[in-house]
Amino acid sequence: MNDLDKLAVQTRWFLALLVGFENLALVSWLYIAWQLDLSGYILWPGIAAIVLIGGLFVALIGGHQVLKPIRTVWQAVLHISPTDHGVVAPDLQKLHYGRELLVNLIGQIYQLNNIASSQASADQLEKTDLKNDFVATNMPLPLVVLDANEIIVFINSAATKYLQKSAEELIGNSIYSVLDMSFPNEHTFDLWLNDVKMNNVTAQNSWERVRFGLADQHSLQFDLSAYYNKDNSRGYETMLVLFDHTEQYSQDDQAVSFIALAVHELRTPLTLLRGYIETFQDEFSGKLDDELSTFMHRMAASGEQLAAFVNNILNVARVEDDQLTLELHEESVKDVISGAVDNYILRAKVRGIDLECNIAEDLPTAALDRVSAYEIVGNLIDNAIKYAGNSNKIIVSAVQNNEHLIEISVQDSGVGIPTNVVPNLFTKFYRNHRNRAQIGGTGLGLYLCKALVTAHSGHIWVRSEEGKGSVFSFTVLPYSQLADELKSGNNKDITRSAHGWIKNHSMYRS
Ligand code: ADP
Repeated sequence: MNDLDKLAVQTRWFLALLVGFENLALVSWLYIAWQLDLSGYILWPGIAAIVLIGGLFVALIGGHQVLKPIRTVWQAVLHISPTDHGVVAPDLQKLHYGRELLVNLIGQIYQLNNIASSQASADQLEKTDLKNDFVATNMPLPLVVLDANEIIVFINSAATKYLQKSAEELIGNSIYSVLDMSFPNEHTFDLWLNDVKMNNVTAQNSWERVRFGLADQHSLQFDLSAYYNKDNSRGYETMLVLFDHTEQYSQDDQAVSFIALAVHELRTPLTLLRGYIETFQDEFSGKLDDELSTFMHRMAASGEQLAAFVNNILNVARVEDDQLTLELHEESVKDVISGAVDNYILRAKVRGIDLECNIAEDLPTAALDRVSAYEIVGNLIDNAIKYAGNSNKIIVSAVQNNEHLIEISVQDSGVGIPTNVVPNLFTKFYRNHRNRAQIGGTGLGLYLCKALVTAHSGHIWVRSEEGKGSVFSFTVLPYSQLADELKSGNNKDITRSAHGWIKNHSMYRS
């Protein structure tokens, strides 16, 4: 007989014994009632009580005994479960029935558990060390792995070679202290990581044109891809892969430097030409016929356009070199905007466009660098004229918005911008492919505007509908707000540098 059959026989005998006891009690009661000649009023309640109480007794004791082996197995499983801590192992010595079967069964459970956990720890040992991972170590792309505290825990040989740092210099350090990356816009890696840490279990993202300065003053430029896995069991929470584009992106930078060099030479003759045109305008005012006076206007407008172009290029080169410095002063928004608008009235007129200026009466003074503010508004008006299509009105307005910031907008009813290209507009050299063949430009104007607005602690954005027109808006601080920030020491300086690169914010936090 096997152990299970043995338990079945023992259980059957135990239950038969219990039922036998109950029947014995019933027979005894009937015998007593017969001997004492008890009446039906006592006899029947006695029988009912014995059947009821006896039944309950059999159910309780029998149920307990029948379930005991299952309960013992259950306790053994809980004992080895990794999630149920503190459940003690069952004491098999105390078992009266089916001991052989349970000793066997529970022994097998413990053995299986030992095999599983030793396998898991062997796997863990192998996996926790990425140095033993053939793919990670030999991948020909730089790979950097971070733990939950943004500490570098692994770096492959392609990465040490690329970043020109040894593994010892990098491993064990915060990524922000040893890999000080700059990004072309405010969507930096650290902001993304903080966000996904709060909201996601897994996430991935990529960035283009990321920069990292080497010790020898050279910069690496690469695209970056990151994968995030919250509380990764192996401690590898964030993985970064770098795709080198240093050569390709540097060519763009060199293009700016080269153009700036060439354009610089245009400045002196251009100033001379504009001076002569102005003199002619004064001298011949009222003496020319309509046709000649239109020519004169066109010459003057073209001179101004060329001067603005030269200025833009030189400023972009300065932004790239971190050489463009702004000084914020208390300025009247009305004065600055009307000054900028005046510069463009002639150019707009030549194209048959009316420039309207709507400045709210009760605007507070703003914290502005006058020359840069001219340049921002000028670039936006210049674009509004260039992309006006058949429309004939441009409105420049300034209001104080709900956040108490001064919001300046340039609205046109021109060709508009397709929604899918809007995110790229403020990127260096970006031009909308649909109209770049027909309308001349460099793709630098909005890039410069963004750098200048950011240096004013403002934001710039666009609302546009293709075929209906665009509204470009940007914010600047009311002077009182800057003054408060200066007083509280939050904002240390009125001198700002305009740059196209934004560092990981954590650098500043640390
Ligand atoms: P560009 O020299 O090409 O005008 P910008 O940086 O000033 O360079 O503008 C980038 C692109 O944004 C332009 O090529 C154009 O496609 C689009 N754009 C800018 N302003 C407007 C506008 N007011 N209406 C339509 N498209 C515009």
